[in-house]
Order: sequence, then C-alpha cells, then structure tokens
Amino acid sequence: MSAPTSNEITNALKGIDSGTGGLDIVARGWVKDVLCKDGHVTVTLEVPAALGPKLEPVRQAAEKAVHDMAGVISATVVLTAERSAQTPAAAKGGAPKGTGRIELPNVKYIVAVASGKGGVGKSTTATNLAVALAKLGRKVAIFDADIFGPSQPRLLGVSKLKPSSDGDKVYPLDVHGVKVMSIGFMIAEDSPVVWRGPMVMGALEQMLRDVAWGELDVMIVDMPPGTGDTQLTMSQRVPLAGAIIVSTPQDIALLDARKGLNMFRRVEVPILGIIENMSYHVCSNCGHREDIFDHGGAHRTADELNADFLGEIPLDLQIRLTSDNGMPIVISQPDSPHAKAYLAIAEKVWAKLSAGQVQKPAPKINLGKMFGV
Ligand code: ADP
Repeated sequence: MSAPTSNEITNALKGIDSGTGGLDIVARGWVKDVLCKDGHVTVTLEVPAALGPKLEPVRQAAEKAVHDMAGVISATVVLTAERSAQTPAAAKGGAPKGTGRIELPNVKYIVAVASGKGGVGKSTTATNLAVALAKLGRKVAIFDADIFGPSQPRLLGVSKLKPSSDGDKVYPLDVHGVKVMSIGFMIAEDSPVVWRGPMVMGALEQMLRDVAWGELDVMIVDMPPGTGDTQLTMSQRVPLAGAIIVSTPQDIALLDARKGLNMFRRVEVPILGIIENMSYHVCSNCGHREDIFDHGGAHRTADELNADFLGEIPLDLQIRLTSDNGMPIVISQPDSPHAKAYLAIAEKVWAKLSAGQVQKPAPKINLGKMFGV
C-alpha cells in the first residue's frame, strides 16, 4: 500500500472541526506543513497561541484521522503557536512559549549538550559523557537531536543497525550500556536535510514520544549546533533539567558559546556548566603538552558568566580515532587520562543533578525591550 500524498492528507484533515465557529482546520488555515516520508506523516498546525491548550482534542482527532489513512505507518500532529500571537507574550517580558510540552515522566533528568557552532566536538563529548554516566551505574540514553548532522550511530559504532519496532513503539538500540535513538537511523548521515523548523520539531517530537525509553536516570540530548529557532523550540518544549555548553578555547568559539548560554538562560533552562574541548594538544609520540589555542578561555568565560566550569578535554588523536571507530575512548581506553577526564565530568554532572544543585538561571531578560515592542 503506497503512502498518501500531502494533498490526500490535507483532504482528510478537512474532516476535522476546528471547534471555533464551525470551520474545519484546513479552512481555518491552520494546516501549515504536511510531511510524509515512507508512510511516516508529520503535520504542523499553526494555531493562535491563546487557543493552544484547548486544542489538544482537535490535535488528537487530526492525528487519528491521518493515522487511519491507508498506507500511513505513523502520524504525528503538532501544534505550534502563530508567530504574531507570540509577540504580546514577549512584550510582557516572558519567553515565547510553544504549545504542548513534551512530557517524559520516566526520565529523571534530561540534559542538553549544546554548542554555539558546529565542529567543536559537541557530539563526541555527548557520547563520552553518556557512556561515562552509564559506567557510573546510571540508566542512560542518548537522544541525537542533531537533525542536520546526526552522528551518534557512527560514534557508537551502530550506523549499520536499525532500532526495532512493534508497529506501536520503537525500541532504541542498547550500546555500551546506553540506549540510543537518532534520526540518523532513518536517513543517511550525509543526506542534506532541508526541513523547515516546525517539521524538524515534529520529527524530533515523534522520536521522543514513540520510543520506548523505559526508566532512565539521565537522557543526554545531542542538540543541533547553534542557537536558531530549532534549538530554541527544543529548549522550550523538552523539559530540560539543564544544559552543558561545549566550546573550544578560541575566542571566536567562545563568543558563540556565550550565545548558546544566553539562549538557554532566556528560556530559563539552568546551565550545568561549560566544557572546554580541544583544550590543549598532547603529542601522540612524546606526550608533550602544547597549548595550541588560548587554553583556559572557557574557564575564564565560565567565571565571567557565572557558570560552572566542568572540565577540559585535550585535542588528542586517540579521541578522534576511537570516535571514528565507534568505540568511545571511555570504553576503548578506560584507563587513559582522557577517559578519566570524561568520568570526572560525568561525576560532577550527576552530583549536580541529583543534589538539585543546578545553577539558577540568570535574571529574566526583558524580551519586550530586546524586540523593541
Ligand atoms: P560537533 O558535534 O561539535 O560538530 P564532533 O563531535 O562531530 O563535533 O567533532 C568534530 C571532529 O572533531 C570529529 O572528527 C571528532 O572526532 C573530532 N574531535 C572532537 N573532539 C576531539 C578531541 N578532544 N580530540 C581530537 N579530536 C576531536
């Protein structure tokens, strides 16, 4: 049975009453994006922000209607707030809120690993941190939300495998004691994904909701790099216990790191701390240590910005080689100083989470002022 086209899906949605004055949701102009990929359908309904919470039954009805169509394997309908409707909230000084927070009641702490820009080693750090937390005895999952360059399947050596599904739930792979889910299992790592913001969020939400995560102490979220709309929406919709910013020591990267940090503070996600990656170089022949970049920049920035400094990881060939081989250094060379550095960071992170010692967010920024409204 072939999957329906976007037009056929939109037609089916004409049968869903908007609950506002007798018009259906298509006639209301709420249906913004309809994405169908191999029978997996994601629909975005852009609705007035004030109506958001009341529209859950409408969302569910739309989801059921799509799900019941022939050729549909899974259906996700997400509500997003109309942009114009967000401005008054922003003007009042509050962060713009998307509708429908994604609840994961069986997960104790969800931690975002983020960076202001790509290529700083965010994914490598997220993998080793997740594996290190598992080694400490925690129940851990890694959720690869880096939809533009999903690398967790490769970093964990499972890019040739696929998670299994019973038609209802998807079962994450279990690698080195860590459950892993990534959009990379569905699409090739090098395929250019050109999805618009709401679609990205829809795909991420579907993965979060449809995966049988089980009981978890920590879910590490490998965020997309940067501070765009997707990152902001993720930070608002997923109940994050805190965020970790990965940065290289160069000033320019630190400027980006500041942006990352400010983004989380803006949506009141506590900052667990900053990790300096590629902090210094260790020669693989003689072990000589060299500060190639301005080593210590992240530590200084952390102090300046009143965030904790969680630790530093050197630029080391072994870290790259073990990543490329799908055997994170914490697993493949557990006694190396680098593995110990990741473990020490994991201990700090767990101590902060379990003691509820996450740094309080900075004072609220007046968004109204920022946007000039
Ligand atoms: P990001 O997620 O920030 O884009 P990656 O984790 O994919 O970055 O890392 C980018 C590249 O840098 C990869 O080839 C990775 O193996 C390498 N890398 C990351 N951290 C280190 C490190 N500490 N030492 C050596 N190479 C590293």
